[in-house]
Amino acid sequence: MNSRLLESVAGEFGTPVYVYDETKIISQYNRLKKAFGPQEVKLHYAMKALSNINVLKTLKEQGAGLDAVSIEEVLLGLRAGFEANEIMYTPNGVAFSEIEEAVALGVMINIDNLSVLEHFGMVYGASVPVCIRINPHILAGGHANISVGHIDSKFGISIHQLRHIQRIVEHYKLHIIGLHMHTGSDIVDADVFLQGADLLYHAAGYFPELQFMDFGSGFKVAYQEGDFVTPIEEIGTKIGESFQHFCKEYGRELELWFEPGKFLVSESGVLLVSVNVVKQTTSTVFLGVNSGQNHLIRPMFYNAYHRIENISNPEGQKKLYSVVGYICETDTFGYDRPISEAKVGDVLGIYNAGAYGFSMSNQYNSRLRPAEVYIKDGVPQLIRKRETLEDVIRNEIDLSKSASYATYE
Ligand SMILES: *Cc1c(COP(=O)(O)O)cnc(C)c1O
Repeated sequence: MNSRLLESVAGEFGTPVYVYDETKIISQYNRLKKAFGPQEVKLHYAMKALSNINVLKTLKEQGAGLDAVSIEEVLLGLRAGFEANEIMYTPNGVAFSEIEEAVALGVMINIDNLSVLEHFGMVYGASVPVCIRINPHILAGGHANISVGHIDSKFGISIHQLRHIQRIVEHYKLHIIGLHMHTGSDIVDADVFLQGADLLYHAAGYFPELQFMDFGSGFKVAYQEGDFVTPIEEIGTKIGESFQHFCKEYGRELELWFEPGKFLVSESGVLLVSVNVVKQTTSTVFLGVNSGQNHLIRPMFYNAYHRIENISNPEGQKKLYSVVGYICETDTFGYDRPISEAKVGDVLGIYNAGAYGFSMSNQYNSRLRPAEVYIKDGVPQLIRKRETLEDVIRNEIDLSKSASYATYE
């Protein structure tokens, strides 16, 4: 998406606005599919990264399944047209009733807790096949908040509890048809995946009925030039080979699954914002924009780096700016960024905003969430309206106007 296209989107739809490029999503999908060489892979898109129905439909057309982490995501996936058997439900810490609801809908359940597995065994026994999420205790991931495979993590059943899992499985005659791991996001080292894979191959010895192995995700993309990225092709080649070797030993061809979120959609997205104020202080020049951590929380939450460019003046002379949001808290998109000289009204593009951008947005400070625009077949199209104040107070109840208040008067 070049500056001119982005500027025209800002002009047509206003700012702040999230813009996603469908061709980028499709090319990332194909790149990952091809990385494994002769080994077929099934990709379940981790929809928590970006759940707009149009993006889900794009990935469905490409042949992806879905990875859902809440019953709401399962329901949205079904609405988008996915078959129940194309959806993997990987909950953590949810009420058992939510798991029952998912079973009734027919989606694959991924269990990450021994006591839940036992409960599941009691209720369903041999009647509903399941997948087990193993915690391989590998330290992985770019930031403590997104590293989920380590010893203190709440996710998964420990690889050291295989014997206990086996006891429960045998007693309740459970059919374990998949093993799963997901050790964190922003993993840059191919060996982390290989180590995890080896542990899962070992664990497979306990489960003779497996049909698939799911190695989760955590593929990192570039946020700035020269950034370390997950070497997808290297991982693909190595895992593809080791998996084929494993299948021979296991005695059967299993399916190989991954659940990428960020890898598929991060680079497809840009958040366009407008400069409200240019503020010189004794120490820096701030560009204050009409957005904030309420729209894109990653810089404040994960200390994530997002490249920022002045779309309105792409060729201008670079100056150092600190780009800040309008929320009444520390609210910084980036410190000391060389950006083409900016004036009030200029449109800035904040890049890598496709994943965990809109999906983590909120209405803090009673601000409205942005619109979303999809560049599909080269044409920008509105896929979510900008919120209005009515949306912010939709479910609020003003007691002075409610009937119940009147009856107590
Ligand atoms: C979040 C998540 C993913 C996707 O992680 P990315 O780093 O965005 O690729 C995959 N699987 C599970 C279970 C997740 O919770």
